[in-house]
Amino acid sequence: MKHIFDSTEFENAYHTDAPLGAFCSREGTLFQLWAPTAEQVDLRLYREGNGTPVWRTHPMAAKAQGLWAYETPENLDGVYYDYAVCVDGKTYETADPYGVACGVNGLRSMALDLSRTDPENWKKDCPPPKQPEQIIYELHIKDFSWDVSGGFDAKDRGKYTAFTKSGTTLHKEGCFPTGLDYLKRLGVTHIQILPMYDYGSVDETCPDEGYNWGYDPVNYNVPEGSYATDPYRGDVRIRELKEMIAALHANGFRVIMDVVYNHTYSLDSPLFKTAPWYFYRQNPDGTASNGSGCGNDVASERSMCARYILDSALYWVEQYHIDGFRFDLMGLLDTDLMEKLQRALDERYGVGEKLVYGEPWRAADTAARGVTLCDKNALKQIDGKIGAFCDDTRDAVKGSVMDERSVGFVNGGVMTADILKKCVAGWAGEFGVFQTPAQTITYLSCHDDWTLWDKLVYTLDPNKDFKEGNEAVLRANRLAAAIYFCCQGRLFIHAGEEFGRTKGGIKNSYCSSPEVNCLDWERAREKEELVKYYRGLIALRKRLPGLQDKTEKAKARILEAFDIAPNCAGVLVDNRGKDSELQTLLLCFNCSQEPTELLLPQGRWQVLADGENAFAWEEENCLESKTKIPPQSALLLGR
Ligand code: CA
Repeated sequence: MKHIFDSTEFENAYHTDAPLGAFCSREGTLFQLWAPTAEQVDLRLYREGNGTPVWRTHPMAAKAQGLWAYETPENLDGVYYDYAVCVDGKTYETADPYGVACGVNGLRSMALDLSRTDPENWKKDCPPPKQPEQIIYELHIKDFSWDVSGGFDAKDRGKYTAFTKSGTTLHKEGCFPTGLDYLKRLGVTHIQILPMYDYGSVDETCPDEGYNWGYDPVNYNVPEGSYATDPYRGDVRIRELKEMIAALHANGFRVIMDVVYNHTYSLDSPLFKTAPWYFYRQNPDGTASNGSGCGNDVASERSMCARYILDSALYWVEQYHIDGFRFDLMGLLDTDLMEKLQRALDERYGVGEKLVYGEPWRAADTAARGVTLCDKNALKQIDGKIGAFCDDTRDAVKGSVMDERSVGFVNGGVMTADILKKCVAGWAGEFGVFQTPAQTITYLSCHDDWTLWDKLVYTLDPNKDFKEGNEAVLRANRLAAAIYFCCQGRLFIHAGEEFGRTKGGIKNSYCSSPEVNCLDWERAREKEELVKYYRGLIALRKRLPGLQDKTEKAKARILEAFDIAPNCAGVLVDNRGKDSELQTLLLCFNCSQEPTELLLPQGRWQVLADGENAFAWEEENCLESKTKIPPQSALLLGR
């Protein structure tokens, strides 16, 4: 079948653009399923989303191009359903891959009039205006509100609804803002949510007992049920997610969705069961290709699979008002698909309004033939708006993610003007794999691997005290933050990095307890000074056009990079731009253990930030001729 599925004959005979899914209204209900290899398909209706026996069965009619259909004048809004698909004499029972709603744990789909799930004023909901700089904050729904100290009501903890609550404070004491108010104070512009489509690893019947990041998709077009206050009723999770997005928009954030189209939870998936193997890559011996490291790879290069991914992403934008996508293992998907998506989003919503970026790598080789995969090697050739995570700056600053002992600029490694310059340029143009900084996602840490704090503890604290750390860890954290906030590209912050988030040294916490993973709001207050340092850097970054520039001209802004002393380097940046008072930036980073003398170029240099204070730019404080940079410190100046 692999050869047949790959052939143009198959594509010509079976590709369809017919609407797929269940569509209900007062005029009636239509079910359409693409099952090109099926001998028979039965539609089975249920009164409930789980447990109850089949209420009615309807054989579906075979149509052209592999399509199966059942139409009725009844309005089946709120009725649950699944399919029995017979292929080669074997019957697969499956939810609808195009289902937009489902019962608990996603085993049955639900026919639903989606307009019923719109919160008040949903039609008027729109994202806040695009700001000159985009700063992305990566957050997991349960992590956000699980910690009791966060002051959320019990019913909202770990749920979509927690994002709709303003006014939460630490221990409900009214002093230290948590939740939504905390995010607003921080100043980030985009909230990237870890997978929030329906995934399989948490039992939705006891959601408080399970935890997972959610990189195991089951129903791509349905929100995850364990984050809903009622996972049994198919409409509740939809309405609550829409309310969450509306609240984020109303509070000034755009919302990025983390999507995992490269693999599914298992081969026991709706995609597999409706068209066995069509949606999956196979090795020559017939086994499932495993470039994802998760047991299967989705075959994005096949036309109905590409259509599926495209339809799904566009559906989330249209139905849920999503503002962009972070693609998991984008290096497993093909460039045609990624460019088609970017083009469709640009056409519908305005060029560059919806962000698309991903991981430009894969876990291992994949069995895709005849297509270019969207990995690092492809970034120079593709649509320059498609971005990717930059592991070069990440690893240069703090050391590789492969070995906890490996070090970078801030924790005992070597820094030179030459590498610093590449980092500041966002590894774009002649400096690296990106065309311009519009493609570069500049970051130090994310949900994967050690938190920044834990990595610094591993390399700088002989006692490996993850909770407390030591002064060197704290200094290195501030220095690391100052460095990446001075790099071109789009900034990306792992939630809690700004308060020294720790997972106790655990590297891969995808299924650790929520206590290991959740945002510790108590710690956010304890490390308030570090939070303030990040807040200062965020606010400063929004004022510096020289660092925000994402165009072809950005690299010419980097006037000169120079070594000041061993492990101490600086860079001069052309900061001219609209409303900018500062013509030139002098960004210096002393990664050594020694204070270093810096001879200043001519003129009066305003201190923008130093090793302790990232709000120095708020007060007039100018330096001339020379100054000293303390050990393990940044010194950011403007003239
Ligand atoms: Ca689920």
